[in-house]
Amino acid sequence: MKYKRILLKLSGEALQGSSKNTNIDPSVLEQYCEEIRTIKDQGVEIAIVIGGGNIFRGGQAEALGIDRVQGDYMGMLATVVNAMALQSSLERHGMFTRLMSGIKMEQVCEPFIRRRAIRHLEKGRIVIFGAGIGNPYFTTDSTASLRAIEVQANVVLKGTRVDGVYTKDPEKFPDAVRYSKLSFQEAYEKNLNIMDMTAFTLCKENKLPIIVFDMNKKGNLLKVASGEEAGTLIS
Ligand code: UDP
Repeated sequence: MKYKRILLKLSGEALQGSSKNTNIDPSVLEQYCEEIRTIKDQGVEIAIVIGGGNIFRGGQAEALGIDRVQGDYMGMLATVVNAMALQSSLERHGMFTRLMSGIKMEQVCEPFIRRRAIRHLEKGRIVIFGAGIGNPYFTTDSTASLRAIEVQANVVLKGTRVDGVYTKDPEKFPDAVRYSKLSFQEAYEKNLNIMDMTAFTLCKENKLPIIVFDMNKKGNLLKVASGEEAGTLIS
């Protein structure tokens, strides 16, 4: 494996899959776990940040007459709901996990303590970081970058529904071309929407590579973790 310790960012929105009646599609959860197991079996140390967009985003708050900061906390709590679902599913698949939260809620998760998170990873437990970084005005992408740096992950693997970064939106423009590699500077100059600026800058300044890849394609996570080209590498 090319990477010994990875931080996997999963979007909350993707967790909804095609399910219209619930926020969490069990088949997506199942597929995530199967993919994660393929790299766990290879001894990769895995930290995960999962978003909350399938349940609530802070940006939706104002339209609902809810205060923005309150909305952000609601979004953070939404990530905990997803993280708990993922934790349970991973354990059902025989993996050992710990859920650490950026907001204290001792009945359901441990508080985030950096040294303890690293210890869990060293012991082979999958560590899920819930509740973002615990502060409003941030996103789970920034959480992914920050936690990856804190636990000294070798790379951020951003699982999406497209197979990398394109010259323009591939879902709108059929002539869009995928980059296999990019430098942070190029991505910045071309204004490519990889992560929000806070998240992106954190990675850039700490020389932490990002790989954007299609999490829905079977076998892709293993490919990416072993250093095969399957997405876009930003470094
Ligand atoms: N959020 C926050 N601080 C954080 C992480 C998340 O305020 O450190 C809030 C923010 O409102 C965000 C929501 O939680 O919109 C859900 O996360 P996100 O939108 O990043 O989820 P995704 O798009 O990945 O599903």
